[in-house]
Amino acid sequence: MSAPLPAAVRIREVGPRDGLQAEAPIAVADRAKLIEVLVDAGVREIEAAAFVSPKAVPSMAGAGDVLALIQRRPGVSYLALVPNRRGAELALAAGVDGLSVTVSASEGYSQKNVRMSVSESAQEAGAIAILVGGRVPIDAVVSCAFGSPYEGDIAARKVASLGQRLLDGGATSVTYADTTGMATPRRIAELLEVTGPQVGLHLHETRGTALVNAYAALQAGVTRFDTSIGGLGGSPFAAGSAGNLATEDLVHLLDDLEVRTGIDLERLLAAGRLATGLVGHDMPSRVAAAGPRSRLAIS
Ligand code: MG
Repeated sequence: MSAPLPAAVRIREVGPRDGLQAEAPIAVADRAKLIEVLVDAGVREIEAAAFVSPKAVPSMAGAGDVLALIQRRPGVSYLALVPNRRGAELALAAGVDGLSVTVSASEGYSQKNVRMSVSESAQEAGAIAILVGGRVPIDAVVSCAFGSPYEGDIAARKVASLGQRLLDGGATSVTYADTTGMATPRRIAELLEVTGPQVGLHLHETRGTALVNAYAALQAGVTRFDTSIGGLGGSPFAAGSAGNLATEDLVHLLDDLEVRTGIDLERLLAAGRLATGLVGHDMPSRVAAAGPRSRLAIS
C-alpha cells in the first residue's frame, strides 16, 4: 500500500506568462481578461507577466500595464517572472505578490538561454533576493532539473544542491522544472528522495509523461504544481519541448482522486476556450478536447 495522497494541492497557473510567452503578442487587455477569468475559476496563484526586455520577448511587453489593469482579488497571488534586478524593481513597482527567478541546472542551457554560467545565474538570483529584501516571496525555478539537451542527464544530487544553494541565497521556495520533458516517475522519485517533498514541480508533457510524473510526485507528498491553461507554452530554446502540463488535465485528475485544488473544472474549461480564441489555435489539453468524465458520469 502506498501512502495516502495529499488532501489538497496548490496550483500555480503559468499560462499568462510561460504560455503566452511563446505566442505572437496579444493585447494587454486580453491578457488581463484571461488572468481574471482564470481567477474566477478558482486559481489562487497566477504568473501574470514577465518583466523582461520587450525586444527579446515581444509577447511579454507591457507587463506593468497588465498588472495595473487586473482587478485584484483578495487571497490571490499575482506573480511575475524576473530575469534580473532591473526586472525585479519593475515588478515590485507594479505591485506583484511574488517573484519567480529561473536558474538552469544545465551549463549549456544556461549559456544559451541567459548567457551566464549556472554559478553566475545563481549569484544574480541572490542579488535579486537582496534587492527584494523579503518584501515578497521569491520562488527559484531550477530549469532542466531532469536533463538537458546539451549534457543529457544531470545527477539528482547536483540538481538538489543547486536548489539548496538558491534557498541559502534568499529564495523562499524552489520549483524543479522539467523544461526538456525528460522526467519520468523514476527520476521524479530520485530527485524527491534527495530534496524531500517540500518543493514545487513544473512538468512538461513533451513525451507524454507529465500526468504520470505528477501522480508519482503526489504519492511522494508533493503539494505544489505549475500548470498552464490548455497546456499552452514551452521553451523556445529547447527543441521540441513545447507543452506545459495543462491545468485542465491536472485538475480533472485531482478531482477524481478527491485531492482539492479550489478550482472549478467547468469554469477552467471556459477559460481555456477564451485562451484558445486569443492564441488562435488548438491547445494540447486532452480534457479540453474530450470533455471531462464528470459530464458523462451518472450521479
Ligand atoms: Mg514551462
